[in-house]
Amino acid sequence: MIIREEKTITVRSQVKEQLHHKILIVGGGTAGLTVAAQLRRKGVEDVGVLEPSDKHYYQAAWTLVGAGAYRPEATVRPEEHQIPQGIRWIQDAAEEIDPIKQVVRTREGREVGYDFLVVAAGIQLDWHKIEGLEETLGQNGVSSNYRFDLAPKTWAFMQQLKGGVALFSAPSTPVKCGGAPQKIMYLTADYARRRGFARGLEVVFGSAGTTIFAVPEIKAVLDRVIERYGIDTRFHHELVAVDGHKKEATFELTANHPKVKAAPEAPKPRITIPFDFLHVVPPQSAPDFIKQSPLADPSTPLGWVEVNKHTLQHARFPNVFSLGDASSLPTSKTGAAVRKQAPVLVENLLSVMKGQEPSRQYDGYTSCPLVTAYGKMFLAEFLYDNKWHPTLPINTQKERYDMWLLKKHGLPFMYWNLMLKGQA
Ligand SMILES: Cc1cc2nc3c(=O)[nH]c(=O)nc-3n(C[C@H](O)[C@H](O)[C@H](O)COP(=O)(O)OP(=O)(O)OC[C@H]3O[C@@H](n4cnc5c(N)ncnc54)[C@H](O)[C@@H]3O)c2cc1C
Repeated sequence: MIIREEKTITVRSQVKEQLHHKILIVGGGTAGLTVAAQLRRKGVEDVGVLEPSDKHYYQAAWTLVGAGAYRPEATVRPEEHQIPQGIRWIQDAAEEIDPIKQVVRTREGREVGYDFLVVAAGIQLDWHKIEGLEETLGQNGVSSNYRFDLAPKTWAFMQQLKGGVALFSAPSTPVKCGGAPQKIMYLTADYARRRGFARGLEVVFGSAGTTIFAVPEIKAVLDRVIERYGIDTRFHHELVAVDGHKKEATFELTANHPKVKAAPEAPKPRITIPFDFLHVVPPQSAPDFIKQSPLADPSTPLGWVEVNKHTLQHARFPNVFSLGDASSLPTSKTGAAVRKQAPVLVENLLSVMKGQEPSRQYDGYTSCPLVTAYGKMFLAEFLYDNKWHPTLPINTQKERYDMWLLKKHGLPFMYWNLMLKGQA
């Protein structure tokens, strides 16, 4: 039976309802529900999930939606059906966390107390940090696979392309799925090749990064893909403004660009690139309510929940844990990483609940299905410190059709039927 919190009529600034759970999970996305399901499988009682959205998304398929290779409707299901049996769903958003009083205050005026807290509220998309972007998103050939409603627009704009410049951006902040900014680029290049206009299309990657991929064994494969498509890579380029009407994107050179290093006092040079199609990946950070809370990592303005990178326990509040995109774990933020983090968190949380020290360790495992063409994918798997870590008994340094099938069919099946049920 799903215990669902009845909505109460509330007046902001007044506490309308006080609740308490032994374990409160903030965020019912990939990480929150995976942890909730695993806790229930272990027979843990009195778990609440605070989640405002009535929809649950399989975001990993949005890359394929953007390329017309997956139905958008197949990436969304009602949240109600995903909440594990016996878990209380509080349909509301956290606004403030007070880890001293052990209480979370919500948008609708609730105060939810907890003994133990799991923060899994995902990542915030900071569209507003790129001047002119919000006004033009979804129009003028500007789109992004980072939103459910926009991914189909990416596909629409891709189909309108007949040549010109297809421009792809990647910001300097960590993003969810570090491979997503480039996967749609390879799919666009392949689309142009298949439709016969690749020669008339200039594909440009404007990235604030310093390289196509930080893991050398994976970079080697991607360098060959880039060469095959003739992609013009411009690293150290941060997208700062978009003019949708003029179809121009402005980049600022980053601090580690040789020109900026040579004249660090001078204003950073800006470069404007005209485009016919622009796929934007916005800068990202922890949700504001986390940034503003005592749980935030003080060493960065991005505000991730500061946890021990092996135990996932908070650095200062031992009854608080975090995983997934909102956490400070220094690995690539993916659902695949969450799959490995969740059992570590659950076991360590249960130890702490028994008064013991957390003993299980997360090694930073993450993976990214790098789609490089229609029908081709290779799996990038790695650990902390960008250590390549292939786990499959096949050559994963090769673009493969069986891996494409895994991305298109195997992983979504695993997500909905095993991971969210606490079985993978
Ligand atoms: C285009 C794209 C492609 C991707 N491709 C891949 C891929 O190929 N492979 C892969 O493994 N991963 C991929 N990912 C990344 C993957 O989706 C995320 O890393 C994963 O969902 C992280 O889980 P999470 O629970 O931390 O965040 P989410 O799943 O985003 O869940 C966060 C939840 O917190 C909720 N929330 C937000 N604010 C509040 C609040 N104030 N109070 C309470 N709840 C709140 C949200 O509504 C949401 O349900 C991709 C993502 C995108 C966007």
